[in-house]
This record gives sequence, structure tokens and C-alpha cells, in this order.
Amino acid sequence: MGLFGKKKKKKKDNNVAIMMENVTKSYSKGVPALDGISVTVKKGEFVFIVGDSGSGKSTFIKLLMRELKPTKGRVVVQGEDLGAMKNRKIPKFRRNIGIVFQDFRLLNDRNVYENVAFAQRIVQAPAKDMKKNVTNALTVVGLAGKYKAKTSQLSGGEQQRVAVARALVNNPPILLADEPTGNLDPKNSWEIMQLLDKINRERKTTILVVTHNREIVNAMKKRVITIRKGIVISDEEEGGYIDED
Ligand code: ADP
Ligand code: MG
Repeated sequence: MGLFGKKKKKKKDNNVAIMMENVTKSYSKGVPALDGISVTVKKGEFVFIVGDSGSGKSTFIKLLMRELKPTKGRVVVQGEDLGAMKNRKIPKFRRNIGIVFQDFRLLNDRNVYENVAFAQRIVQAPAKDMKKNVTNALTVVGLAGKYKAKTSQLSGGEQQRVAVARALVNNPPILLADEPTGNLDPKNSWEIMQLLDKINRERKTTILVVTHNREIVNAMKKRVITIRKGIVISDEEEGGYIDED
């Protein structure tokens, strides 16, 4: 390091939601699932993550939730260095993140209201705010009228909207979705993506969506990060779906 290299920038960048620096994740010996990835996402961005099955997309998401730790490199989310984070800090950190999965992961013996309220109970939201917050979240996803329904009686599209309400009820700065339309028909897929877009625009929530939905990615003109075999092969503003070979 030379004389001028010493002034290393240590200042936190408050505009950054997510930063991965040379991140490698290996599950075992052999080919790493992610191999030296560097990605920065600014607060308020909407980003699609695309790539073949097995390319490392879910691993990427799990690193951001601190479900996994990087083998090498740095993962910083909302200013927190996740590799250095103590386990006991994880629950508090997770309040920064709402998550939506392909398979909804609802409590199917509970009604719609209880599924969303569950997320509020985990963060010990004051009882007086809970009803208002849950009702607001259900209104955003267009399901306020179905709050009493058992989730098992809902269509797939409705179930995913409950999951989106649950992900946003605590108003997290970041929302992650791992193939949220993977089990939905085209019409419901569009509705979910447009809902995520609305949440991004209205709440300024930083949103990352892993998807295989070529038509939607091409139509929405968002930033698109393409991962292939654990490496970012493309990262474009107003990008499109890159054909694999
Ligand atoms: P994608 O979500 O893009 O399909 P994943 O991140 O799930 O990809 O997987 C990337 C690679 O890591 C794949 O080769 C997969 O088999 C491997 N992998 C994922 N999870 C595990 C695990 N828990 N243990 C071992 N290997 C895993
Ligand atoms: Mg996956």
C-alpha cells in the first residue's frame, strides 16, 4: 500500500442497501455455489436476479438473510457486516428483511389475518398497532375483505398475496423474493410482480426478485443481474432476460 493508499474509505455509505464484495460460498469441497461475486444495490432499487437452475440464486438470497455465511468475501446489508455478525444479533437484523418464497409457506391451519399478524407478533409489535398494520398490509395486496378466510381455501395467487402482506407488514427496508411466481399462472404472476413494483415505488422498499419469468423481466425494464454457475455474467439497468447458450 502506497502513501496515498492509507486513506481507506471506511465511511458507511447510507445510500447502499446491499453490498457483496468478492463473495464466495462453498457448501463443500468442489465447485463453489457462488464464486467471487461483487454486487451493490442502492436503497430503493428494484432488481431482478435471473439465471439457470443451480446457478446460485437462492444461495445469494440466503446470504442476504444471513441464513448462510460467506466462505470468503463480505456481505453488508443495511450497513451490517453479516459475516461478522453474532448469532444473537440475527433476529434483530432480520427485521430489515421481508421474504417471499415460491411455495408461499403460509400457516394453512390459520386464517389470512393470523398469517400476517404472525410476523407482527415475532417483532412484538404493540397490540394497539397490530390490527391497523395487518389491515393496511392486506389492503395493499387487495385482500382486506378476505381476512377471515383459511389460507387453504384461497387460490395460489391469493396465497402469494398473503405472503407478500406478511413480508411487508413490519415495513422492512428490504424485500427479497425467491421465484415468487414459480407456482402461479401468467395472470397471477403479473399481478404479483406489479404488486412488488407498486410496493417499491410507493414505500421505496429495496426489492430483489429471483425469477425465471422471461416475459415479465423483459417487459418491466428493471435492473437485471444474470448469474451463471456462481458468477455474475451481466448486470444491466433496464435489462432483459439473457438466453442461456
Ligand atoms: P439456484 O437457486 O440458482 O437454483 P442454488 O443457490 O440453490 O441455485 O444452488 C447453487 C448450487 O449450490 C447448486 O449446485 C446446488 O446443488 C448447490 N447447493 C445448494 N444448496 C446446497 C446445500 N445446502 N448443500 C450442498 N449444496 C448445495
Ligand atoms: Mg433457487
